[in-house]
Amino acid sequence: MIITEEQMSVAAMVGDWLKKEVAPVCAEYDVKGEFPQQFYDGMVELGLNLISAPEEFGGLGLSCLEQTLIAEQLGKYEPGLGSAVGVNASATHLMTLFANDAQKKIFFDILVNGGWAGFCLTEPGAGSDAAGLSTTAVEDGGDYVLNGTKCFITNGAIAGAYTVFATVDKTMGLKGITCFLVERDRAGISIGKHEDKMGIRLSNTTEVVFEDVRVPKDHIIGEIGQGFKIAMGTLNESRINVGAMGVGLASRALEEAIRYANTRVQFKKPISNLQMIQGMLADMAMDVESARQLVYHTAELVDARLPYTKFSSMSKCRGSDVAMKVAVDALQIFGGYGYMKEYPMEKMVRDAKIFQIYEGTNQVQRTVIAKELLK
Ligand SMILES: Cc1cc2nc3c(=O)[nH]c(=O)nc-3n(C[C@H](O)[C@H](O)[C@H](O)COP(=O)(O)OP(=O)(O)OC[C@H]3O[C@@H](n4cnc5c(N)ncnc54)[C@H](O)[C@@H]3O)c2cc1C
Repeated sequence: MIITEEQMSVAAMVGDWLKKEVAPVCAEYDVKGEFPQQFYDGMVELGLNLISAPEEFGGLGLSCLEQTLIAEQLGKYEPGLGSAVGVNASATHLMTLFANDAQKKIFFDILVNGGWAGFCLTEPGAGSDAAGLSTTAVEDGGDYVLNGTKCFITNGAIAGAYTVFATVDKTMGLKGITCFLVERDRAGISIGKHEDKMGIRLSNTTEVVFEDVRVPKDHIIGEIGQGFKIAMGTLNESRINVGAMGVGLASRALEEAIRYANTRVQFKKPISNLQMIQGMLADMAMDVESARQLVYHTAELVDARLPYTKFSSMSKCRGSDVAMKVAVDALQIFGGYGYMKEYPMEKMVRDAKIFQIYEGTNQVQRTVIAKELLK
């Protein structure tokens, strides 16, 4: 599909900001592991914490395709910041799709005032098998009382609101899982371990601990027992963003490889004259373009309100596999220099890996695709 200037307008603005303000210095923050508050402030100024929010609650009213184009720019220039925006968008999708107006007001007011959101599903004992979660929600008067630890939570320490999944009765399995809107300032919430990550080091990833956290009943999203359906329904849409970030990262890796191949001289000629390098570049370009078209097509299906589950998993899987492969191949074209932190490929290879893991691993996506095929 061909993208128009109008569809690209917000993404182009975001891309310009990332290129000018973030890309030149992000490697320093990656090494230091220091939280770059000014970039998060910059993203709030651009409205990136509200990209998926409905207009009536302060959102930008963007189509899925426009959001996908923004995710591509974030993946291209700084996947750590992209991950913060992506998870914030997951919580936003959840609230938009499943919350009532009063709950939306509480949540979106936090975001409109510059806040971020977290999506608290994963636990130490419940990753791919999210239905095996152990965080409990026990009814007590007009409240539910939450106890448990969530791990690997993006925006964990910076979020003003969380969507939290807990079970009202573990013996009920899937049917006990319930989703709650939980504001950060509720008593009993603390931030546990801050993860020291391989990549996307400009994102904040922590444990979030709930100890006797009282949440009023009117903060239940949907109905008791609908939590698993809500989590899967949300991720179904939001994982397109991961595929888009993968495409963005891969396209940047290809650009860097072309630039390097045209300037690096060996055997008295730029290495771009070597047919093996040309073959690698051609393969990388085919991978990027085919993944990009798959991601755009999926976003079009979402915007047209057509079935997209299989395509969403395919986009996440293909976009992230292409990111990993193209980043590694680009590093190979850089030779020994690619292995050094002084050059961009080392960080890009580390950043690319997460796309195959979070929002449901690529193995899990393949099981979803196969299930859809075999229906
Ligand atoms: C940086 C980062 C940020 C994250 N952010 C968030 C967040 O904001 N919110 C949140 O809730 N979670 C978040 N996660 C958690 C992430 O979604 C999980 O790590 C992921 O779903 C996998 O779970 P796991 O790590 O427990 O791996 P496991 O489920 O233990 O998987 C281990 C291996 O087994 C494979 N496997 C497991 N089940 C199957 C299966 N049925 N078929 C085939 N293979 C299978 C997996 O693919 C993987 O290779 C984040 C993770 C990371 C690393």
